[in-house]
Order: sequence, then structure tokens, then C-alpha cells
Amino acid sequence: MTRPTSPAPLPGGAQARAPLVLSALEGLYPDARTELKFRNPFELLVATVLSAQATDVSVNAATPALFARYPDAHALGRAAPEDIEPYIRSIGLYRGKARNLAALARLLVERHGGEVPGDFDAVVALPGAGRKTANVVLSNAYGYPAIAVDTHVGRLARRLGLSEQTHPDKVEADLGRLFPRDRWVFLHHALILHGRRICLARRPQCPACAMQDFCPKVGV
Ligand code: SF4
Repeated sequence: MTRPTSPAPLPGGAQARAPLVLSALEGLYPDARTELKFRNPFELLVATVLSAQATDVSVNAATPALFARYPDAHALGRAAPEDIEPYIRSIGLYRGKARNLAALARLLVERHGGEVPGDFDAVVALPGAGRKTANVVLSNAYGYPAIAVDTHVGRLARRLGLSEQTHPDKVEADLGRLFPRDRWVFLHHALILHGRRICLARRPQCPACAMQDFCPKVGV
């Protein structure tokens, strides 16, 4: 797996702060994991593509019927986007996602025998996927160390003074320099949970935050 390098220096104090952040998150969210529901790598890939700019709750509400109708890449690859749309209509951007899922499933069949490849570059190349999707799929389905940077992870990394970057790939690179590889997957999930529950985008709940004593609250 190739990983981008960040040419910019880390924020001041980031090296010292990172272990405090990790320790706090381990205390707050010891069982942090993805909230998407899936039974195999194919379902996780589809759910992750559907989760772009949508809530996990809305994706989890739609996927049982979708997977009952299209249980694997072979079945989904035979579907037209219009066939898929009714199952995901309650999810944002459903037309584009239906197109991507149909194309993605066909590619899985043509190039990978219908299986989700355990290879970063192969997942990134799938329609509707990107670094974030590849990191989510590889870490959750195959246990690869990866940090998927979504809107929550990026926002918290900046507020906590762990990165000054705005591009997800560069935030990912900074976090990768600050935290041990075997904690990357946990870190990703724990930051998402903290971003949903405490460090909200518009109203961060700093007085109630376990990290308020050492968080520089950048931009808050
Ligand atoms: S102290 Fe405030 S800005 Fe820092 S992580 Fe907590 S809620 Fe977010």
C-alpha cells in the first residue's frame, strides 16, 4: 500500500499531544468500530460507497433489502442502475451511487472473480471508491492498518492540533506519523465517535470533553 507523505511540518506539540489523545480515546471508546452493518467484504464495500455524504443510520436502514435482492457482486453486476435506485432512494446522492454500484460490481466480477480485492490500489480504482473507502474496507474487512480520513477525522485532527492540513490524504499522512500502526484503525473509529458525540462540527462541547485540558481547540 502506498502512503502519501506530508511535506509540511506537524503542528507544535503534536508529538507530545498524540499519546494523550490516544489514551483519552481509549478510555472513552474502548470498543470503537465501524457503525456500518455488514457480513462480508462485499457488503462493507457497498455500504461504504453508500455512506459518502450520508449517515450510517440511513445506510444501515437501506442495506438489508438491497443485500437480500443482490447478495453478491455477481447479482449486483447484472443489475442496471435503475434497478438499484429504489433500494437506496432514502440515501443522499442515490442516482450517482446506483450508477457507481452497478459499475463497481461489474468490475469486481470482471477483474476479481466477484471478490473484493485485499489490495489498496485495486479498491481505490473501483467506481465510487477512493482512499477513504479503500482504508475503511481494508481495515475493517481484512484487518490492514489504515486511517480513513472523513469529515470528522479531519476536523478533530485539526482542532486537536495533530495536523494543519485540509486535504484528507495529508491529514492521513500526519496521523500516520503520530500514532502507532496497530492503533490506526481504532483511532479512526474513536475520532469519528468523538466527532459525532462531543466535538460536533458546529457546536463542540468542550466543557464536557475529556480532552479539554490538553486540546488546543484550534479554530474553535
Ligand atoms: S476540547 Fe473541544 S475542540 Fe478539543 S476535542 Fe474536545 S470538544 Fe473538540
